[in-house]
Amino acid sequence: MTSIIPLLTEYEKEHIGERQPLPERYLGLTDEEMDVRIAAARRTLGSRLVILGHHYQRDEVIKFADYTGDSFRLARHVAARPDADYIVFCGVHFMAESADVLAAEHQQVILPDLAAGCSMADMVAPDQLERCWEELTEMEVPGVVPITYINSAAAIKAFVGERGGTVCTSSNAAAALRWAFSRGEKVLFVPDQHLGRNTAYRMGIALDEMVVWDPDEIFGGVDPDRLARARMILWKGHCSVHARFSVAQIVAVRRQHPGVRVIVHPEVPWEVAQAADDMGSTEYIIKTVTNSPAGSVWAVGTEVHLVNRLAQSLAPERTVLSLDRFGCLCSTMFRVSPNHLLWVLEELVEGRVHNEIVVPADQKHWTRVALDRMLSIQ
Ligand code: SF4
Repeated sequence: MTSIIPLLTEYEKEHIGERQPLPERYLGLTDEEMDVRIAAARRTLGSRLVILGHHYQRDEVIKFADYTGDSFRLARHVAARPDADYIVFCGVHFMAESADVLAAEHQQVILPDLAAGCSMADMVAPDQLERCWEELTEMEVPGVVPITYINSAAAIKAFVGERGGTVCTSSNAAAALRWAFSRGEKVLFVPDQHLGRNTAYRMGIALDEMVVWDPDEIFGGVDPDRLARARMILWKGHCSVHARFSVAQIVAVRRQHPGVRVIVHPEVPWEVAQAADDMGSTEYIIKTVTNSPAGSVWAVGTEVHLVNRLAQSLAPERTVLSLDRFGCLCSTMFRVSPNHLLWVLEELVEGRVHNEIVVPADQKHWTRVALDRMLSIQ
């Protein structure tokens, strides 16, 4: 039975008011009982239901997903199932919001636990972004194209969409930057400074052509001369899971496993990306490690559930280790438990919808514009 309850992030606290608590009768069930009942509810709902599962979900949940993938791939799957009335999104809040925007009118998107947020998405608030935009205008910074990582709230995506920008994912971040530089001189990249920096650096943009915008400082705390020279304006945000990876871990794993190859997600700090052998989105990591020659040993710098599943599926031909020997767990993603999944599915069988994610109408249009741009950028 699984019963870990991580601490709430600020993002979760903001949404906790809307959260419907898990009824007591769904606590204390055995794994076997939950498996049988989830399978039965899925059978009853049939093609009216589609379950999407992010790679970072725990095994007990993701095994029920009709489609698995990173945010980009899952966003594409939403459009592929117009027959489903219910999209149960086993991921975090911002992903379910994107699904709601991309879904057809009749489809309802459900997040099994509304407290499944994202600490990175929490690092950019709409009023902070508005102030940043006003200050850039006041400083007469020309040709700024905003890009938001998909790991952000719908309000942020709508802001970006309305100002001629796009959403990107870790799969298409380089393409999104090329798209933006064909339209302007500078990119304002929110909220993950590491993804922005790692991607831009790989494309040949020097570190001294990038500045970090601190939303808690006046004018971002940025020197105007440096801002004038900058091509990338990086929001001061990060993923608390991927920021844990370090160069010391890479040194240690190379000492312990001579010949190991280190592959990391672009949300890691720049120094870690430089020290690694390879870097890419979760989809890229899965493909690269899976297609490597038999006998390969890999240390992977991303969320531990993905790493463990990869290790199991490729053993014994390939060895896959977590770069962080204690394993980097996304505690908010972990909030979606089989208990929550069972609850929302059995309630759907009874015709009751819980934990529906609805993006406000005033944000929907521009969020959709930004997401459509993302889907069109290869
Ligand atoms: S791994 Fe990081 S970016 Fe991804 S959902 Fe968790 S906190 Fe957010």
